[in-house]
Amino acid sequence: RLYLDRIERLDADLNSFVTVTAESALEQADAADARLAKGEEAPLLGVPVAQKDIFCTRGVRTACGSRMLDPFVSPYDATVVERMHAAGAVMLGKTNMDEFAMGSSNETSFYGPVRNPWDTARVPGGSSGGSAAAVGARLAPGATGTDTGGSIRQPAAFCGITGLKPTYGRVSRYGMIAFASSLDQGGPMAASAEDCGHMLNAMAGFDERDSTSLERPAEDFTAALDADLTGLRIGLPQEFFGEGLDDGIRAALDEAIRVLRERGAEIREVSLPNSHLSVPAYYVVAPAEASSNLSRFDGVRYGYRCEDPQDLLDLYTRSRGEGFGAEVKRRIMVGTHVLSAGYYDAYYLKAQKVRRVIADDFRRVFADVDLLLGPTTPELPFELGAKSADPVKMYLSDIYTIAANLAGLPAMSLPAGEVQGLPVGLQLIGNYFDEARMIGVAHQFQ
Ligand code: GLN
Repeated sequence: RLYLDRIERLDADLNSFVTVTAESALEQADAADARLAKGEEAPLLGVPVAQKDIFCTRGVRTACGSRMLDPFVSPYDATVVERMHAAGAVMLGKTNMDEFAMGSSNETSFYGPVRNPWDTARVPGGSSGGSAAAVGARLAPGATGTDTGGSIRQPAAFCGITGLKPTYGRVSRYGMIAFASSLDQGGPMAASAEDCGHMLNAMAGFDERDSTSLERPAEDFTAALDADLTGLRIGLPQEFFGEGLDDGIRAALDEAIRVLRERGAEIREVSLPNSHLSVPAYYVVAPAEASSNLSRFDGVRYGYRCEDPQDLLDLYTRSRGEGFGAEVKRRIMVGTHVLSAGYYDAYYLKAQKVRRVIADDFRRVFADVDLLLGPTTPELPFELGAKSADPVKMYLSDIYTIAANLAGLPAMSLPAGEVQGLPVGLQLIGNYFDEARMIGVAHQFQ
């Protein structure tokens, strides 16, 4: 009731929720009370959470920020939703997002932009901007996000919360509407690293319905919360501290580095020489996969259908033309182009090679260090509209986050102070499967 009441009072200004499932939330809360009374235990029993509207939820509209799916009510739950429910969580509703998770500001949503709770003239980041704003404003203690190129970490940084993108394959993509399947990964967003650990415990695990799901023994992601930092080797990629980084953010990170050193961590400068290729490689690979994934939206099977189609081609072209927004169309066109005969080798194949080279850079540095530390974003949260006219400027918001997606590595953003009344995000990137250690280090700041 507390959270439903806060949503009702505060979300008119933020627009972080697209659907509030109040009635069912209260029923689920009553059911949790009954289970508690019987002495039952479940890790998230009675904990209210919000689901990003990219996750399918049975009987509840799942629109992925798009007019294309506005009429769609999912007949099944995504694995993430199913698992959180099994862990006892209570779903408050679905959060706003950039259309099909394409964006860094939450301005491409069919349901209108989300506003940053720290300053409502500014964006909350994207694409999981609704989840970040909701948790930042304490309209929910935790929310899910997805991160294809930074969409958990960048909005977490902009809204002063903690967000974690797991190792690719940790969290099932079943029922998570696909953007770029080889990069997409769901993860937790919450007020603390510890809460993210508890949420990840519920979300992660093998799922035979996702062919890229990893079979790993069960793990407790809160196991290293009190770890000693003595001797921990933390690398600072020099490319993440160069030109283009806001001075205030750099100063906040220097302070965090000082604290880690004081606690016994060994700080080393390292180099990821190919990191400047991340954004260009991503904007070939991600649109290529998106153009293929989004071909399922044809106006026939589900979602939006144009009025009065004249023939089949008219049905396809008008349904897609009217159903998709401008950024999504841009990605479909770029993706189709880079995959087309004659261009495939020059763009798509080349980008795949670059992706390998970027992953090799990480492999090399993780031979010498345990974790990498850097900024999450080059800038503080920007004003609504500031980058809408220039897609490349918008794409550069993810300059420090995209490499981890291309390599499949786990990474997180945690709050590292404030500059001019706005939150600063610190990014940690871990080696494959090293989420627990990363959460332990992040916990030292809370
Ligand atoms: N901002 C990036 C993009 O627009 C990443 C989005 C994401 O991680 N879903 O593609």
